[in-house]
Amino acid sequence: MIPHQSEAIVLRTWPVREADLLVSLFTRDTGKVRGVAKAALRSRKRFGGALEPMTYVRAAYSEKPREELVQMDQFEVLASPLLQSVDYLRAATLAFYAEVLENVLPDHDPQDTLFRLTLAALEQTRVDACWMPLTYFSLWTTRLIGWLPETDRCTDCGVRFADDVAYFHVLTDGLSCVRHKKPNSSVLSRDSLALAQRILREPIHALAEEAWTRQRAQDLRRFLVRTLERHIERRLNSAAAFARLGG
Ligand SMILES: [Zn+2]
Repeated sequence: MIPHQSEAIVLRTWPVREADLLVSLFTRDTGKVRGVAKAALRSRKRFGGALEPMTYVRAAYSEKPREELVQMDQFEVLASPLLQSVDYLRAATLAFYAEVLENVLPDHDPQDTLFRLTLAALEQTRVDACWMPLTYFSLWTTRLIGWLPETDRCTDCGVRFADDVAYFHVLTDGLSCVRHKKPNSSVLSRDSLALAQRILREPIHALAEEAWTRQRAQDLRRFLVRTLERHIERRLNSAAAFARLGG
């Protein structure tokens, strides 16, 4: 057994056998790991309050030679998303972070920048302020995982959008100019294109003071969700909640 200790974010749990849980963990040191938390549902001392998705913990776990699943030994809560109030949008946003990370992270591959981005987004995700961190997280995650196309020029011809809108299509990669857009494309507005450039340049707290309605950057979020979904080859269930809320 090789013992490990790392900061980590809980992504998901599944019940297995009686009181045991299978846990998916985004660790800072080794990336995504999965393991069994034995008697987790009974042992408040070892895992009390630390198993909710998007809880930031210090995790102790043990690796067994030649076994893919680790043994989760103990979690200490560093920050719980449940310490602040939760409404439907905030719950949906937290579920979205967890579902995206669970699906885009490769196993055992450290992603320190993405880890720090996630903590920064979590800190900004409050009941009255979810749309900005949601947009920021979506854009940067897509970028850091290597799936973000050029956001300032046409994928087909390279012409810069400058003061023009861009177009995207659910079945193809990238953004297109008006000449190369596919039939039934969606529009990405000039405001959202400019905002994407700012998000790529500025730290998240620089955007935190601005008013964000649910309509702001709605087209950009849809473009990012479609991009993520095409790469992971499945729908993101939690993203449906944003459409229901009109964002
Ligand atoms: Zn073009």
